Amino acid sequence: MNLARLISETAAKYAEKPAIIFEGKIWTYRDFDRQVRLYAVALDRLGIKKGDRVAVQLPKCIEFLFFHFAILSIGAISLPLNPDYRSEEIVYFLTDSGSSLFITTSDRLTKVQSAIKHLSKLQVLLQEEFFPQNEGDINYSSGGDEIAMICYTSGTTGRSKGALISHRNLIANAKALHKAWEWSDRDILLHVLPLFHVHGLNVAALGCLYAGATAIVFEKFEPRRVWRTLEAEKCTLLMGVPTIYQRLINEWEKLDRKPDLSNMRVFISGSAPLSDRQFYYFEDFTGFRLLERYGMTETGMNASNRITPEHRKAKSVGFPLEGIEIRIVNRDGLDVKVSEVGEVLIRGENVFQGYWGMPEKTKESFVDGWFRTGDLGFQDIDDDRRLYLVGRAKELIITGGFNVYPKEIENILESHEAIKESAVIGLPDEDFGEKVVAAIALKDEANITTELLIEHCKSRLAAYKCPKQIFFVSELPRNAMGKIQKNILVQKLVEM
Ligand code: AMP
Repeated sequence: MNLARLISETAAKYAEKPAIIFEGKIWTYRDFDRQVRLYAVALDRLGIKKGDRVAVQLPKCIEFLFFHFAILSIGAISLPLNPDYRSEEIVYFLTDSGSSLFITTSDRLTKVQSAIKHLSKLQVLLQEEFFPQNEGDINYSSGGDEIAMICYTSGTTGRSKGALISHRNLIANAKALHKAWEWSDRDILLHVLPLFHVHGLNVAALGCLYAGATAIVFEKFEPRRVWRTLEAEKCTLLMGVPTIYQRLINEWEKLDRKPDLSNMRVFISGSAPLSDRQFYYFEDFTGFRLLERYGMTETGMNASNRITPEHRKAKSVGFPLEGIEIRIVNRDGLDVKVSEVGEVLIRGENVFQGYWGMPEKTKESFVDGWFRTGDLGFQDIDDDRRLYLVGRAKELIITGGFNVYPKEIENILESHEAIKESAVIGLPDEDFGEKVVAAIALKDEANITTELLIEHCKSRLAAYKCPKQIFFVSELPRNAMGKIQKNILVQKLVEM
């Protein structure tokens, strides 16, 4: 099956119903489907063929979705790019992917024009000058294991890799999430995430279209507007990253009148670790227990807490989604003993087809058909093998031969009332190989010494886990999805 065809079939069923309300403008399923078809015919006439890569770098706009599904409709491959990427990054993605078409805006094009001149086979299409009018037949010429998207990983370490994601991967994930989160055509999702990333596109927007539900889409996330809209529009679902939930918590305290959330079903968090504090505060304030889930570009969603609130736990990302298997292995690739920490391996229809043009990297990423996520975690054998993540394998700190998982220390630090956020990393050390250090951003007007913070940790953690040094920073470097960029942080701290 071709994903765009599947969505077109849903559109036929719900024709009159609003599919997307983008900044107040309503697009019914019929309107949406018609635009996708017009776009698809126009792309076909530009000579875009099955398997061609089409890079889309647009700000968050409805046209992004029209292009995305139109590209899939003609069997081409959609390659969404962060609208903030700079010239050098764009040149890399266009060159690496061998894209045939680059869809962007004129202001963005001005900045990269001279740098992409040498890409002689690349056509450029300016979104603001594109008004397709011609109808025609759509062939939906790809499907199944054929590639629908290339999603470049956010590249927190090394060069970004293009993850090849098939129609089957996307459909399997949409189905699994539909079931796990009990999506229905009565749902109203408030969409405040970027569209170029898996979370905003394949989880939120696709989840909504797959269900025949309605998405109210905002260009930008503004906490006060979110609280107001959830009430006014009788929304049932919100998806966000922990940074979004932190800002919603902060805003809640300032609201004179708390919103009526009686229509809400569930608030979902993912893409980065949710802290204990965020989990408990959100529930104390709003009465809703956040539902945390775990996924990645290469696999889509892997695990989720259950839709029943009593089966959601702080720090845990829940249980494998339907059709997904999880194993935890040690450094030798052997299954760990019960409840021990190891690398999380994933198998299932959601797992991508490999990295574009990187056969070696693809090979390294799989063992016997299992994908190596690079995440460290454990499964609680006494709780139906509930999964907990403790950090990235590359972020594991080995100090004096002991393993330290940054997240454990970050949770302890963040339980201190003076601390807004923290990141724990390992820096080279002559005696210990690596030493544990923490970068800390304090809350406004908070004041505390390094000694007191280390004391706070020592009373709760074994000595080898406690930070040996603390750096105070005004904020931590984060990428567009709110994930802390520890590689950038390490560089900064080394220079400090
Ligand atoms: P990305 O490919 O940009 O979506 O990043 C995927 C990575 O984000 C995963 O491999 C995890 O390290 C991290 N991640 C995603 N969801 C969670 C979560 N709920 N808790 C902790 N880390 C997460």
